Amino acid sequence: MEKRNYNILIIPLMILAMFLFGCESGSEPEDSYGSISFEKQGNPPGGGFDLGDLTEEEAAGLLYMVEEEKLAHDVYVTFNEMYGEPIFENISQSEAAHMRMVSVKIAKYGLVNPIGENGIGEFVNPEIQELFNYFVEQGSSSLNDALNVGGAIEETDIIDLWEQLDMLEGNLDIQRVYSNLLNGSKNHLKAFVRVLDFYGVQYEPQYLTQEQFDSIMNETPRRKIRRGN
Ligand code: MN
Ligand code: MN
Repeated sequence: MEKRNYNILIIPLMILAMFLFGCESGSEPEDSYGSISFEKQGNPPGGGFDLGDLTEEEAAGLLYMVEEEKLAHDVYVTFNEMYGEPIFENISQSEAAHMRMVSVKIAKYGLVNPIGENGIGEFVNPEIQELFNYFVEQGSSSLNDALNVGGAIEETDIIDLWEQLDMLEGNLDIQRVYSNLLNGSKNHLKAFVRVLDFYGVQYEPQYLTQEQFDSIMNETPRRKIRRGN
């Protein structure tokens, strides 16, 4: 009798503790709360992931990032049709690859992919929809404006990926994808800066601080070119 009363108190406390400390302790599953989210089953080799392996923020992050990659892709496809400038075609293909990488994780963790059957310029997240409309309008007046928008998109992407990477709680699986996306975005930003420079325009950072921008520009300084000589 006394023991049972004790258990009734202890179980909610343990559950509270699991919430507070992120379910990381190897506590044994409780029969009365046998739902998957409280069971730490350990991942069998070669897969067996379920939603229990993602925090809510990580799940929301994947759903946001896949549409952010689509945003970049769709804007570049649109600008390529407007201007036929090869950089938009090249980078849009890279964004398509980024979308696929995030989509693979979305499927792996059993989430519903917001991209669905949406066409160019169609988004589920109203914030991203607004950004698409804004960016396309900004880039519609001239090629230089469009190239500048390219820079703005990559800067936004870099900042959002930094934020997502900060939020990850040891999820190496997603960390690897975001690191790839981040490298891609840095290269894309450099490419837009280079093409603008070719057209005689000096690029000014739009969302990054000058310091952050400079440090990205100075990462791995032209290794390929130097090695070739
Ligand atoms: Mn990307
Ligand atoms: Mn990009």
